[in-house]
Amino acid sequence: MKKVTVFFDLEGWWESPVRPRFDVVKTVSSIVKVLDKYNVKAVFNTCGKIVEDYPDLVLKLSKEGHEIASHGYLHEVFNQLSHDDLDNVLEKTENIIKKIIGEKPIGIRSPGLIFNDTVYDVFRSRGYKWVSNRNMQFCELFNRPDKSSVLHSIATIGSKFQNLFYPKKPYKVNGLLEIPLQSSLETDLLGIVSLEQKSSEEWLTSAFNGLKKQYLRSHDYFNLNFHPWLIGTQNRLRLLNDILGYIHLKEAKFVLAGELLE
Ligand SMILES: [Zn+2]
Repeated sequence: MKKVTVFFDLEGWWESPVRPRFDVVKTVSSIVKVLDKYNVKAVFNTCGKIVEDYPDLVLKLSKEGHEIASHGYLHEVFNQLSHDDLDNVLEKTENIIKKIIGEKPIGIRSPGLIFNDTVYDVFRSRGYKWVSNRNMQFCELFNRPDKSSVLHSIATIGSKFQNLFYPKKPYKVNGLLEIPLQSSLETDLLGIVSLEQKSSEEWLTSAFNGLKKQYLRSHDYFNLNFHPWLIGTQNRLRLLNDILGYIHLKEAKFVLAGELLE
């Protein structure tokens, strides 16, 4: 049976000048309603500042069986920090998470999926069990609903080689379980322009078709990646509902990232 993980990067607006302030509690609560409909437990890669500002929300997520992973304290760019500075940021975030949910996170996603060897060294030395950083550049690029015909022909050629470069399922890298992105981030599918406006029907339909295609192309493992500030605002929850509903009808099992370690 195919295993499916669902990831949300639970971050704020402080690190991004283009991102408007959004209602964290309201958007996450609407997302959880959709998750509950299909009995899905998800992974929330959560910034330490979010945990500090919304402790009740994070505790509720954890109590309801969702996995809380680290996403830095303030969504720092990890490869720009020294070994010691990154170590301090992660320790601070772990302690904040532990204070609220009672345990340290076992998983981490580097903000912006940016990493280098030092970043992995620090993850390992801090005892993380899984990471989710490796981006599928080809996948991201080739599945954009707005891809041009030129991109489309590159995609046709590129997809033939995609399997050579990108693993289809989690694999061990330097002792950590790496969970590679297999689906587009919804920022790619929906575009990050005009966040205050509703997404058009065309966008939502092509984003759904894109995700469906990625799901069908995956083998015995598939992951979905979202951001509450995007998927949980305006009319975009429909995309989450449609793709989860679609997978729900398939021979698939929704699991937490931690369960992939077993
Ligand atoms: Zn992020």
